[in-house]
Amino acid sequence: AIEVRHLNFYYGTHQVLFDISLPIRQRQITALIGPSGCGKSTFLRTLNRMNDLIPETRIEGEAIFDGENIYDPAIDVIRLRQRIGMVFQRPNPFPKSIFDNIAYGLRIQRKPRRQIQEEVERSLRAAALWDEVKDRLKASALGLSGGQQQRLCIARALALHPEVLLLDEPCSALDPIATLKIEELLLSISKEYTIVIVTHNMSQAARISQYTGFFLNGRLIEYGPTAELFKRPRQRETEDYISGRF
Ligand code: ATP
Ligand code: MG
Repeated sequence: AIEVRHLNFYYGTHQVLFDISLPIRQRQITALIGPSGCGKSTFLRTLNRMNDLIPETRIEGEAIFDGENIYDPAIDVIRLRQRIGMVFQRPNPFPKSIFDNIAYGLRIQRKPRRQIQEEVERSLRAAALWDEVKDRLKASALGLSGGQQQRLCIARALALHPEVLLLDEPCSALDPIATLKIEELLLSISKEYTIVIVTHNMSQAARISQYTGFFLNGRLIEYGPTAELFKRPRQRETEDYISGRF
């Protein structure tokens, strides 16, 4: 779905990503792993140009998505972010009702009321949250548990019918049960969406992803099918990292 080629990324004069090339495969889950500070979040943000919100950043290289270069300064960023949605580490629902959290983006798109109602139910079902909230759609989203809030944020992203979903450590603020629910939900939607998940949890990467990329010091050290990368890493650094040696 996305072909990243020779990406270099700078904060000011400080280069943090070095010549990254990798495919993000369609309707597969790609996990990005690596130690803190290696550039996973920065890389993820380049894919829907969230890095534009950070001043003094610079990108070189290209990321081809449907024939367009995501890094082209002239790309329609609003449309790009609708096609490539994002979910963050901390659940960040709007301080609005559960219903309005999802309806918000649809109202901006001027969808008719009936369609909004259908979309709210569809996306809450897809995010495995419908049964838990169907009787309190008008209640504040801030009253939900952390895990429910995160599933709501996923539902909010799905309501806009993205093609790609980027998730930056979506479970690291959650307990193990809530984490498993998110994993199940991602697996259940992975036939329809291209998913990229940053995780510091290697067993999570092994459980849910088909492809894994290992980053170290701003470089993509190894990329390949998840089972192979964990069973037979080709690089010494990958082996050290997955066996917990640093
Ligand atoms: P973690 O696992 O801790 O989330 P990460 O792999 O996501 O780490 P990034 O957040 O992408 O790493 O950071 C990569 C490098 O870029 C780090 O050296 C970090 O200090 C630097 N960096 C990140 N954000 C900024 C910023 N807004 N301005 C300047 N440097 C930044
Ligand atoms: Mg990060």
